Amino acid sequence: MSVLTKSFAMLRFIYTHGEMLPTHGYPGLKKYAHFYGHYGTAWQNQAKEFADFPGAILMTTNCLQKPRDTYKGNVFTSGTVGWPGIPHTSDRNFKPVIDKALAMPGFTEDKSGRSVTVGFARNTVMSVADKVIEAVKGKAIRHFFLVGGCDGAKAGRNYYTEFVEKIPKDCVVLTLACGKFRFFDKDLGNIGGIPRLLDIGQCNDAYSAVQIAVALSKAFNVGVNDLPLSLILSWYEQKAVAILLTLLYLGIKNIKLGPSLPAFVSPNVLKVLVDNFNIQLISTPDQDLKAVLGN
Ligand code: SF4
Repeated sequence: MSVLTKSFAMLRFIYTHGEMLPTHGYPGLKKYAHFYGHYGTAWQNQAKEFADFPGAILMTTNCLQKPRDTYKGNVFTSGTVGWPGIPHTSDRNFKPVIDKALAMPGFTEDKSGRSVTVGFARNTVMSVADKVIEAVKGKAIRHFFLVGGCDGAKAGRNYYTEFVEKIPKDCVVLTLACGKFRFFDKDLGNIGGIPRLLDIGQCNDAYSAVQIAVALSKAFNVGVNDLPLSLILSWYEQKAVAILLTLLYLGIKNIKLGPSLPAFVSPNVLKVLVDNFNIQLISTPDQDLKAVLGN
């Protein structure tokens, strides 16, 4: 794990976007000292944040919005993402991106701001598994909430901020994906040295979250559905739906989903999801917390 600060002045930037990748949270990238930091928030703020970004931007996964003329000359793509008229790297030749970054001014001054701690992928979390298990058995940790998923611009998504704010202090929050930007910089403190807010990463790290749940279930010798763990998810687009289907394939039940149901969930599909997986639409933070914790 590592701490992100806003100390960017005089750096030349390449912003790798896969829902705002904090490069130094990944060992393969952290070894390069100049890959540092984090900029921006969720996809719906992209047009404004990209316009304000004085460096090159490399899109590595999905959720590229239509690039605006004001910054589209700074944008590059690789991997599965692409856009007509935007240069695409398919052979890992990133020279054009680097040249663009060197030609751009970068930030001219530092801004002091808050810091957040990142890097709680499965290996980090499981490296302190003994401590986590001891805290659960000793009742220092009552429950885990995985609160994450896509973010969106529609009203109602402040549910997730409020939900996290209201989670009792003896519970731990795991988070990932765009939805985390609604609360990822909150100081929730710690429980016996274990941070109460664990940022697992981006939407592509849903695999890591599943592995944490599986590892915890093995450690406690119970099924994933019997863990003191609740999934409170926000969906927006096809990748979130694919992740949801993966969770259902793994047999995970009692997921709370919001802020609204996907349009393709017809009454019949909903009945199947409810009957087989007890999937539920979010209500209010107070009601949902009471339903999970019982008080
Ligand atoms: S969390 Fe959802 S909206 Fe954000 S980048 Fe991932 S798929 Fe896109």
